[in-house]
Amino acid sequence: MHIAVLAGDGIGQEIMVECLRVLEALSLPDLKLEHADVGGVAYHKHGHPLPPETLALVHSADAVLFGAVGDPACDNLDRHLRPEQAVLGLRKEMHTFANLRPAKAFAGLEGLSALKPEVAGAIDLLILRELTGDIYFGDKGRRTTDAGLREGYDIMSYDENEISRIAHVAFKSAQGRRKKLCSVDKANVLQTSVLWREVVNEVAADYPDVELSHMYVDNASMQLVRNPGQFDVMLTGNIFGDILSDQASMCVGSIGLLASASLGEGTKGLYEPIHGSAPDIAGQGIANPSAMILSAAMMLRHSFGMEAEALRIETAVAEVLQAGVLGHDLGGKASTTEIGDAVVARLSAS
Ligand code: ATP
Ligand code: MG
Repeated sequence: MHIAVLAGDGIGQEIMVECLRVLEALSLPDLKLEHADVGGVAYHKHGHPLPPETLALVHSADAVLFGAVGDPACDNLDRHLRPEQAVLGLRKEMHTFANLRPAKAFAGLEGLSALKPEVAGAIDLLILRELTGDIYFGDKGRRTTDAGLREGYDIMSYDENEISRIAHVAFKSAQGRRKKLCSVDKANVLQTSVLWREVVNEVAADYPDVELSHMYVDNASMQLVRNPGQFDVMLTGNIFGDILSDQASMCVGSIGLLASASLGEGTKGLYEPIHGSAPDIAGQGIANPSAMILSAAMMLRHSFGMEAEALRIETAVAEVLQAGVLGHDLGGKASTTEIGDAVVARLSAS
């Protein structure tokens, strides 16, 4: 198991330390961890947020564990040199197009959710976000209107292949879960969404055992807060998934709890927390490492087929939370290291 470890910026460094301790506590037979720089750290050292040596490691590894990137000291750099570009570059180089973001209630945390405890307790959903298309990648720029006004524009586009390949992943994911798929779009207004709906309906013919529904994104956002228990798999385009998954994290309790996997056609994947580098709390030792640790569990499951080991990590994290070892993001006092210690202790005991 050759794993590229890219801790990145801010709290990425702190949470990765705990994540690797947890992986090492599993005593996996041939675990090889190799580190490389990414993001602002890489820019300061090598002049680029995604330097060639990092890319070379990513290409040779079986999977990539990624912390976070984002560095306020890089805010004024050219767009292609900003730390955030490293994530886009990595996803592109690895040909990942499907972003899996599971959100599941943790026992004992229902009271900390932004929702009523009984509503929050029912959350067990997977947001499947498309990663390669949409408004992020279309033509964009600034111009001056005929009336002399400053104008900005971003083109939103999807082709049918981009939609059908993510739709297949969504239907297959639903088959492995409760067999319900809700496709989210804005087909009452957007042409990309009309095509999205059309293609998802076509792909549905291959999966008669999955119950498909369609929902406008504004309604989906409302339903996610009103009754999240109704969702199993939610299929979304790039921008709607970005927004809905942050919303889902607060329904569970904290952005520090949710992991994600970015996958392509093969088993190689990029595993990272859904949160960013959190410069506001970096260096204080108070970041919650749970999302990073749970990302490693997703890696064991999806890249290495190690379901039992993935479950061991997920159970340990859930037990630690239930035991009340809570970080600052959840109103507790546990430090990053203390949460890591507690998860390692559970694993050793299990
Ligand atoms: P990005 O653009 O990379 O998504 P962002 O601007 O959305 O970044 P985050 O870095 O995700 O911001 O942080 C959002 C807020 O959540 C910040 O106040 C941050 O301190 C908090 N936060 C994020 N991750 C954690 C964590 N693991 N533990 C505790 N707090 C966190
Ligand atoms: Mg964000």
